[in-house]
Amino acid sequence: MKKEFRDLLKERGRSELPAVLLASAECAPLSKTGGLADVVGTLPKALKKLGMDARVITPYHRVIKDKYADKVEHMFTFYARLGWRSEYVGIEKLVLDDMIVYLVDNEHYFGDKIYRGGDAELEQYAFFTRAVLDAIPNLDFRPEIIHCNDWHTAMIPMLGKTQYQGGMQEGLKYLLTIHNIAFQGKCGFDRVQDLLGVDSRYYTPEFMELDGCANFMKGGLVFADRINTVSPSYAEEIKMPYYAEGLQGILNARSAQLSGIINGIDKVVFNPSHDDNLPVRYDKGHLKGKALCKAALQEKMGLDIRPDVPLFAMVTRMTEQKGFDLVACVLDDLMNREDMQFMLLGTGDERFENFMRAAEYRYRGRLCSFIGYSEPLSHLVYAGADFLVMPSRFEPCGLSQMIAMRYGTLPIVRETGGLKDTVLPYNQFTGEGNGFSFANYDAWELRDAMRTAMDCYRKPEVMNGLIRSAMEADFGFDRSAEEYARLYLWML
Ligand code: ADP
Repeated sequence: MKKEFRDLLKERGRSELPAVLLASAECAPLSKTGGLADVVGTLPKALKKLGMDARVITPYHRVIKDKYADKVEHMFTFYARLGWRSEYVGIEKLVLDDMIVYLVDNEHYFGDKIYRGGDAELEQYAFFTRAVLDAIPNLDFRPEIIHCNDWHTAMIPMLGKTQYQGGMQEGLKYLLTIHNIAFQGKCGFDRVQDLLGVDSRYYTPEFMELDGCANFMKGGLVFADRINTVSPSYAEEIKMPYYAEGLQGILNARSAQLSGIINGIDKVVFNPSHDDNLPVRYDKGHLKGKALCKAALQEKMGLDIRPDVPLFAMVTRMTEQKGFDLVACVLDDLMNREDMQFMLLGTGDERFENFMRAAEYRYRGRLCSFIGYSEPLSHLVYAGADFLVMPSRFEPCGLSQMIAMRYGTLPIVRETGGLKDTVLPYNQFTGEGNGFSFANYDAWELRDAMRTAMDCYRKPEVMNGLIRSAMEADFGFDRSAEEYARLYLWML
């Protein structure tokens, strides 16, 4: 164990790091729709390396059953109260790559869809909340901290502290991590009262009421012992109305308990020197392979095969959040004036997809898009492009910029959330940096940042220095796990 943790334990009069149970709607590789699953699936393994027992509790979704049914061990069964009903709960245990996962089984609530949407989703996760809290005393594990994630598990702290006095749940500490503040779990209070038996005294602005609705996320933010989000800058931003989606009041009130921890990326999956998706592998000392990847990418995408032209790329969901409207605003200006190539791998908003299809027609051989989702192609893009454009309106953490840097592709980002915390902008006086950035959500600022990148592209010694420092940056998950371990310790 690291000396720092030994000292922290001594200060607290303990000999062991705390036992933690992570509660989440999804957990990679078992079930995944987004980055939340990656964090929950990676964190326990990284914590284990620090000597910590962290386990996961997640629904036994159909996708998990289909693949892992013969590997799970049945533990126990009980019935949970949900409104006037008693609902079956089966607790199964799965040991996977050094990680212990408890699966909450109920065929009715956890079938084909991880998220059912609307009112059905609310009931699905109200059930999960109740099942988790009722299961805790009978697990073969004594957690001291319950680490909840997003609104789906945000009611666990509130119910744990208001409905389980005298039980084994009393004294548990709760951490709530915000991965996406836009989704909050809102409904009429009668629904929460019906499903979870919440007392009407909690339906006030001090507790879970917001804008005339009961709000699961707000309930969690009020009752959790600590709150964190996935980057320090985003933890600051969500205290402001522009980013907070209505929750700025409670987040300001609890700012002393709010912090940010950057997610990491999987350094094994994203590794240019061992990536099977690339025609040629490379590392920071041998960048010839990167040039060959660029030629392969240009060929695959129907771009002119030219080593001397800067290739800008985007790998993204095409939504409002990702700032594609800024790109759409300046792309023609740039394409008409500069000798450059641009490509996009993404899918989402139809008007952005159509914009790209039309632009492709105007700039044949210099601009192209792959509208869709392709993991193997994304690896080739990260390796073959020179610059990754990521002008997000907001970005809680962002993984693409970290992956790009690992492949020596320099990110061009707006200074927001995790982008601000991971990209060190190029300083023309010292030569330092690992990417480029701009401050305001403004298309002309993006254009200027792309032009600065093109200037650097023409100066090989500057470009090589930036690529080297991008590839040397450490975005592995071990660093995040240490910060979580520190946070857990502070909670005790
Ligand atoms: P978000 O989770 O908000 O979409 P992140 O940057 O945190 O953004 O993570 C996005 C992840 O999804 C990255 O690993 C990126 O490579 C991947 N991704 C996004 N769009 C595509 C796509 N069209 N094809 C393949 N991978 C994609």
